[in-house]
Amino acid sequence: MTEDEKRNQKHKAAMEKQKAKVDSNIASASQERGVAILLTGNGKGKSSSAFGMVMRALGYGHKVGVVQFIKGQQLSGEEIYLRDKCPEVDFYQMGTGFTWNTQDRSGDIDAAETTWQKALPMLQSDEYQLVVLDELTYMLAYDYLDQNNVIHAIQQRPVEQSVIVTGRGGGSELREIMDTVSEVKDIKHAFKAGIKARKGVDY
Ligand code: ATP
Ligand code: MG
Repeated sequence: MTEDEKRNQKHKAAMEKQKAKVDSNIASASQERGVAILLTGNGKGKSSSAFGMVMRALGYGHKVGVVQFIKGQQLSGEEIYLRDKCPEVDFYQMGTGFTWNTQDRSGDIDAAETTWQKALPMLQSDEYQLVVLDELTYMLAYDYLDQNNVIHAIQQRPVEQSVIVTGRGGGSELREIMDTVSEVKDIKHAFKAGIKARKGVDY
């Protein structure tokens, strides 16, 4: 047997083993229901991953709700696209000025509560197969929203609905109740090398 043939044979054996493992995992997953996903960590890729799943869901004609708990006035590509070109997605953004601009804690709490009141009916409606709560973790970290209410709403959502929460942090109670928790690790970011944030990539 040539070196090449040996390598091919080894590869084939490894692939067969891998396939058996994947098949057995697939066979043992028996529950059919929506999932709660937390995308957290300091690296880039949390919101963009959530919007990737929005695209997937739309591919199947699912009903999608997106609520962004962000305080900036900076437009983003996802906002432009969803508002102007994708009216079938229910989109809402908090969108008051930054805290360090407004320095108005009670105004922020009101804005967070108003925004939560847009998210809550989505979490209660079985029309939505996917609900994205982008940057929600900060509302919990600042105590702008009651964590128990948020956790309760996520847990009580319709069985077939999936929900994605993004943002750094997200306390242990939230992590506990989510089905999938991924932490995006910051290895390096272009911004730290002085490269400006890019349209269509960063916002
Ligand atoms: P994205 O929306 O690109 O997926 P994200 O949701 O993971 O990013 P956020 O903390 O919400 O991260 O920040 C959004 C913006 O901040 C984006 O412009 C992103 O490129 C930038 N950003 C994210 N992580 C870092 C980092 N580690 N250092 C510098 N800038 C970052
Ligand atoms: Mg984000």
